[in-house]
Amino acid sequence: MTALKTMATILAGTKDPAWSLAVDGFEPMMESSVESRFTISNGFLGVRGARSTTRGERWVVPARTYVAGLFDSPGVKQAPQELVPAADWLCIRIGLPDGPLVCHPGDVPAHRMVLDMRRGALLSESHHLSTSDIGLCVRTLRLVSMSERAVGLQLIQLEVEHGEVDVTFEASTEGTGLGLATARLDQDFGLWHTRYSGKRLALANMSSFQIDGQIIQPISLGPLKWSWSWKSRPGQRASFERFVAIVRTDSPELDPGPPARDHLALAQRAGWRGVVTAHEAAWASRWLCSDVTIMGDIEAQHALRFAVYQLNGAANPADERVSIGARALTGDDYHGHVFWDTEIFLLPFYILTWPEAARSLLMYRFHTLDGARAKAAGMGWRGALYAWESAATGAEMSPEQVIGPDRMVVAVLCGRQEQHISADVAYAVWQYWQATGDDDFLLQAGAEILLETGRFWASRAGLEADGLCHIRGVIGPDEYHEDIDDNAYTNVMARWNIRRALETAAVLRERWPARWNSLASRLGLAETELGQWRNVAETMKTGLDPETGLFEQFSGYFDLEDIDLKNYAGRSVPMDVVLGRERTQRSQVVKQADVVALLALLPEEFEGETAAKNFRYYSSRCSHGSSLSPAMHGLVAARLGDAAMALRFFHQTAAIDLSTTRVGSAGGIHIAALGGVWMLSVLGLAGLSLRSDGISIDPHLPTGWDSVAFRFQWRSRRVKISIDQAERRLIATLEAGEPMTLFVGGKPNHLALTAAASPISW
Ligand code: BGC
Repeated sequence: MTALKTMATILAGTKDPAWSLAVDGFEPMMESSVESRFTISNGFLGVRGARSTTRGERWVVPARTYVAGLFDSPGVKQAPQELVPAADWLCIRIGLPDGPLVCHPGDVPAHRMVLDMRRGALLSESHHLSTSDIGLCVRTLRLVSMSERAVGLQLIQLEVEHGEVDVTFEASTEGTGLGLATARLDQDFGLWHTRYSGKRLALANMSSFQIDGQIIQPISLGPLKWSWSWKSRPGQRASFERFVAIVRTDSPELDPGPPARDHLALAQRAGWRGVVTAHEAAWASRWLCSDVTIMGDIEAQHALRFAVYQLNGAANPADERVSIGARALTGDDYHGHVFWDTEIFLLPFYILTWPEAARSLLMYRFHTLDGARAKAAGMGWRGALYAWESAATGAEMSPEQVIGPDRMVVAVLCGRQEQHISADVAYAVWQYWQATGDDDFLLQAGAEILLETGRFWASRAGLEADGLCHIRGVIGPDEYHEDIDDNAYTNVMARWNIRRALETAAVLRERWPARWNSLASRLGLAETELGQWRNVAETMKTGLDPETGLFEQFSGYFDLEDIDLKNYAGRSVPMDVVLGRERTQRSQVVKQADVVALLALLPEEFEGETAAKNFRYYSSRCSHGSSLSPAMHGLVAARLGDAAMALRFFHQTAAIDLSTTRVGSAGGIHIAALGGVWMLSVLGLAGLSLRSDGISIDPHLPTGWDSVAFRFQWRSRRVKISIDQAERRLIATLEAGEPMTLFVGGKPNHLALTAAASPISW
């Protein structure tokens, strides 16, 4: 009885609504978006929030469990790799005399699903009043362990409210042949392999069932499928527990079976209480480092928690061979492919709250450096050109064609032309090194990435008759304009990349000469080449007009048709659909932050008033046709002191995945937008920024945000910041590490462990 009571406690969600997301009832049209939003993930396994009890026929998207890094080419070997879903290990079917319990609108008078963000668990409770004279209350919990990432747990409790009937409870793993070839299927074990990429996947399972505390033996219905039958009586409680352990290996020689069984044995030994306790402790420590509390604005608080929940669930510091796809492990869109989203929109969060995860995401770029070198060489350049869409190997995975919004097939040039990704990766490497001081990483991986990307740009830019270096034939972040010359974002980031590569060479030469010698000789880097890089950086065309202070987004941009977007306010489709592809290309309408993104990343390139001037010019021409766009604008608006505008962008970004009236998240949540929500809040409104000699804070809180508190990590220190808006004061507490300097509103403040933190005004 005590055990069942404890399970009841565990099946009850966190009471505080700021920590949970709930959906009542069941609306088939919205279900795919709900599944994405209610995903549980630990960076290795991602399980969409599909309901596990019998689903009926109207299911929109099959229940998905994703395994990070499980890529394969669908159909033919040459096809771009996609993330292959693993089998759905959560299926349940409750059989009653007049048929199975089906979870659809009419049959479920009360169905509530709760994503408990604090505990990283998905809970549900439903009351089934079936026609066969039985009333059942079904409570469920599922989690993928944050402490043992291979392990998944499902707990179900059935409470018979009334009725004496024959009941069967079936538990199965479905879709075992979906996308993977089956190598072996036993009662409690499955082994699969991908068709072309040489990966293997094992799943070990243990399920058990009790009625009023007594274990009931199952009947086997085939591999990974069991059934339990009994006669119900009022007041009866049945409980089901299922543990799975899932392991991926990346080579046909490695057998994932034994480690899967080992993980399962450990989980079984710990029991569900042990698994839940360790998992909750791991989430608690993530929240300790990354939670941002906002007093005064409940809606913003909730949205930010959701963002931080998804960000914490998306990364896995233990696996350097994977990165985070554009929909993380929450949906099929973009096939798990990794874009600049990770380095530019996600890394800031990880660098400042979870450096171990940041490091491993950057190591993924190191392990895929050969793919980037091959891409550059294949296109006739030197160094490393990262894939615009990357999967397991770093080879280019972008499609060459897609179906456009007008149902026509259109060519996609991004894989060849959206090259700023190489500078974006270098940018994240540098930021990580600056913020952590992780010299081992620099020596082992970071320096090589910086040098090879710098080398790429130096070979990519061509010196022309005007004495300037040009980068022709690219796509900038604004993908509405293709095959353009001298995109300001690309060129200025490329110049920055070359300069950091030169700085890396100088730092290595000075501090680690032996390492420099061996790296320079392995990469064939001679002094003359470094001299050429310097020349390219000095003569790079930037598009900055010294008269107006405006950067021209690309050559010829200012001559394009200037369309007033105010006339299209309230539209429900993107501007390229409203105007058509060709007119959009001939216009100044921008898909997403481009010069504004440059302003966000390299504010030092914009002197004095030119920052505000460029922001005004480009924000009024931006149609926000990408989910990445509003947060970047919000970040810049906040830094420019317009907190009200920043807050509008905050809500616009938050609504992308949280709106309950749109189905935009059916194919997965937009993890970069969620990273953007954090950036906008912490780097924008709270005003945190990295300097080479410390950290600085310059808050611009919007009306309604009475106070904001968060923690960050910087060079092995942990600092807690609490900002009070009314008093224009903040308290900075050094919680771990050596004394440091914190600049508040430009003025240095000394932080030390022993010193009592006193309020600092700004
Ligand atoms: C955006 C890209 C982004 C990609 C994946 C596209 O719509 O324009 O900037 O990297 O989506 O999120």
